[in-house]
Amino acid sequence: MERVQSVLQALRTGNQRFVEGKMRYPRQDETTRMALTRGQTPRAVVLGCADSRVPPEVIFDQGLGDLFVVRSAGNIPDVYALASIEYAVLVLQTPLLVVLGHTQCGAVRAAIEAARPTPALGALVDAIRPSVEAAETSSVDDIVAVHVRRVAATLPARSEILAQAVADGRLVIVPALYHLGTGVVEWLEMGDWRVGIEDEEGRVCL
Ligand SMILES: [Zn+2]
Repeated sequence: MERVQSVLQALRTGNQRFVEGKMRYPRQDETTRMALTRGQTPRAVVLGCADSRVPPEVIFDQGLGDLFVVRSAGNIPDVYALASIEYAVLVLQTPLLVVLGHTQCGAVRAAIEAARPTPALGALVDAIRPSVEAAETSSVDDIVAVHVRRVAATLPARSEILAQAVADGRLVIVPALYHLGTGVVEWLEMGDWRVGIEDEEGRVCL
């Protein structure tokens, strides 16, 4: 757990540099690039939104080999995203998984409006809808805050590898909310959300 705390601290301070416009652009030099041809040991997995305004390496001021990033609209983990996360945890032994949402998320907004312009977008909306139902608010940002907690809570229920890693203390899953305007990453508590499985209505049950 000590390793997780130091990784969280590195992300906090990196985000602080980004917010203050004091980026160091660390580990983006030729030496690092060459050293990384021997392999990777990323300090964190980030499951983030595909939104062009939320690139994890930029907002955390991290470098090559630092973050194992999986992105999809609305930070929804489909089976391939889940496989990528499992690889990072199982093979690379990455100790921290950040589920990173952001304010004004278009995918969450589409879920609120229940927009289904194509089958694929409809499936995405369906995957986010339980968060909209659970949030009991019409605020997009408040729903995103619920959504990242819900995704964080359900990931281990969908993956034996992740569940075991959490149980063994080898993995910590943290929900976070990026604020588009300020650049601040707000670290969220799980609150009432606990790791569990979803029922047919998308509620997380223990
Ligand atoms: Zn988004």
